[in-house]
Amino acid sequence: MIGERRCGVAVIGGGPAGLAAAISACEAGCRNVVLVERDRLLGGILNQCIHDGFGLHRFGEAMTGPEYAQRDIDRFGELGLEAMTGSMVLELSKERELLVSRRGEMVRLRADAVVLAMGCRERPRGALSIPGTRPSGIYTAGAAQNLVNLENMMPGKKICILGSGDIGLIMARRMTLEGAGVEAVFELLPYSSGLPRNIQQCLNDYGIPLYLSTTVTDIVGDDRLEAVQVSRVDERRRPIPGTERIFECDTLLLSVGLIPENELTRMAGIEMNPATGGAAVDDNFMTSVPGIFSCGNVLHVHDLVDWVSLEAAEAGARAAAYALGQVPRRESIVVRPGAGVRYTTPSRLSGEKNVSIAFRLVSPGRDRCLVVSADGREILREKRVRLHPAVMEHLRVKAADLKGCCSLEVSVQ
Ligand SMILES: Cc1cc2nc3c(=O)[nH]c(=O)nc-3n(C[C@H](O)[C@H](O)[C@H](O)COP(=O)(O)OP(=O)(O)OC[C@H]3O[C@@H](n4cnc5c(N)ncnc54)[C@H](O)[C@@H]3O)c2cc1C
Repeated sequence: MIGERRCGVAVIGGGPAGLAAAISACEAGCRNVVLVERDRLLGGILNQCIHDGFGLHRFGEAMTGPEYAQRDIDRFGELGLEAMTGSMVLELSKERELLVSRRGEMVRLRADAVVLAMGCRERPRGALSIPGTRPSGIYTAGAAQNLVNLENMMPGKKICILGSGDIGLIMARRMTLEGAGVEAVFELLPYSSGLPRNIQQCLNDYGIPLYLSTTVTDIVGDDRLEAVQVSRVDERRRPIPGTERIFECDTLLLSVGLIPENELTRMAGIEMNPATGGAAVDDNFMTSVPGIFSCGNVLHVHDLVDWVSLEAAEAGARAAAYALGQVPRRESIVVRPGAGVRYTTPSRLSGEKNVSIAFRLVSPGRDRCLVVSADGREILREKRVRLHPAVMEHLRVKAADLKGCCSLEVSVQ
């Protein structure tokens, strides 16, 4: 049976992005906000991140993931906002109609504006094509984190980690603290793909070796993993014959990237940004479908949750304005990544207000400049001592510098 409902702003996802978007939509004057979360609890991935380091920029404090989430959950409650937990959005249309499965019932929710805040999932082994057998003992780092921190179960005793993304680094430390031996972390690239602070605090402080330009080339074991074979790779990331080494282990954790959860976004026919795997949005975080907004990790994978919350608060306020009848002017300026920049977001600007452009770099560097050009004319240049692809960069561009321009490019020089 299908129930029918209407609301002002519907937020999909109850992680830090969805919470911040719902709170700010309400604070911006929309009284009819509904947040839909498939899990039993609000908080998203933060619920399993019991290490500290969250909230340094937003609150000036180092908090654990659950502590950070609780601040927004408390505010959400104070505002009397409605969360449909244990409810999964199965369909989304261009007309902003959601089909929600809720404890065995179907609900059709019609919204004046929608905020997408579905987060991302981890890249699994299948996406890597590692040869070898299929024994047990191979987990994504996030799945292992869930087992250890929420289910009180240890995935294994002798651990190898493929990929130096932040989740893998955090898990290297976590497994060590829980008494497991972490043999090594292997990274395909010639530099770490995690934040420099995590390399120091999670590997160097515990004497865990990081092998760069190295990947797993074979899996050994029948029922249970017994060892991995690793090889060094050349500059085109191909294994170099003769460099094979065997590492005995009973568990391999994969920390090889995150994929924004954009099935609903595609279903609604929203234009995507191929470089981020998220929607292409304007400076109001609105997608190509009017009234549908996107923020947080489903838009692009963030390094810090503080930026997720700030971005989502802006998206929520804009969604509320849309629901209240203030339709933004369509954007006219295209934003492109230039030399040394992997992606930029937003993809389009109206040019009517100051805007923060978020972007990531292709490779690490020292003593370089981040440069913004409008139609080929330099409008902003900022020096950086250290640059790293794991760190999300921001540049604030003034509306006054955008007058009459058609395209904006961000580059490293
Ligand atoms: C292991 C790990 C360590 C981290 N460490 C740090 C750190 O030290 N400092 C820091 O600042 N950041 C850290 N982060 C990053 C931070 O946790 C993320 O940036 C943040 O959680 C992203 O928020 P989000 O709301 O976009 O996504 P999520 O937290 O993933 O929330 C998305 C929510 O959407 C729900 N959802 C998805 N699809 C649907 C659907 N169809 N219907 C209903 N609900 C749906 C999901 O259930 C989920 O609750 C870490 C992340 C991880 C995984």
